[in-house]
Amino acid sequence: MLIKVPGIEVGPFHYSVISDAESDRELGDRQLYGDCSHMLRRIRVASDTSREQFTCTFLHEAIEAINNVWCNDKMEHALITNVAYGLAQMCRGLGIEFYADQSPHYL
Ligand SMILES: [Zn+2]
Repeated sequence: MLIKVPGIEVGPFHYSVISDAESDRELGDRQLYGDCSHMLRRIRVASDTSREQFTCTFLHEAIEAINNVWCNDKMEHALITNVAYGLAQMCRGLGIEFYADQSPHYL
């Protein structure tokens, strides 16, 4: 099941999910698959990866947003990474993948 993620709701906030060529360039320059800006309420996910990587990165950045809004940033980053891996594995087992509408391509 492919699930499109135009944005997500986290507490009272809407986080946009951006995955486009410009994000790919900026993330690539910083050697990142994704990032999450709480100030801009924006998640960016590199699109020049596999769908599997997209799903894992999206989950990671979504947890970053949840950690900020719901957990007062109490989750350490390594924990966020490991929870995201666990959720990505669970989604893979259930046949769930995420994608962004505007992604130019997946490898
Ligand atoms: Zn992170």
